[in-house]
Amino acid sequence: MKLHDIMVQEVVTVGPGETTASAARKMREQSVGCLVVTIEKTVKGIVTDRDLLGCLSEAHDPNRCQIAAHMTRPVIVERPQEEMVCAAEIMAERRIKRLPVVERGTLVGLVSFSDIARIMDEQAQAYGSMWSSMTRLIRAQSRRHCNGKRTAAAAS
Ligand SMILES: [Zn+2]
Repeated sequence: MKLHDIMVQEVVTVGPGETTASAARKMREQSVGCLVVTIEKTVKGIVTDRDLLGCLSEAHDPNRCQIAAHMTRPVIVERPQEEMVCAAEIMAERRIKRLPVVERGTLVGLVSFSDIARIMDEQAQAYGSMWSSMTRLIRAQSRRHCNGKRTAAAAS
């Protein structure tokens, strides 16, 4: 599975010159915990609700303080063709929860570690049930096969 299969395509963005107050409003309105900071679709940084709390705790004026002062940068980005498991490894290694997906310098999506974890869990369960049904099938077939053999052996 590749990132373009699982990424969210509607990414909420914010400009680096916007205020932290307007970013907070955006997060609340869109129900997201993170915004990708862009200038004309080029990723400049990433800002989370935690970063905005930092602004408050440092007693800045959120109506004047700009996102650029609180965003994380540089940002690790991935291509849409990247395998999901590789992205998961990078996120686990760097302890990051979200990865902007970029194609030819343009933001095209966002993947979150929790989405990847959920999909991997679903896959594990699907493989688990596939394995148990395969085991049943093998048992049924081998029983028939071996019973037949035993019958044949007994008859001869
Ligand atoms: Zn601030």
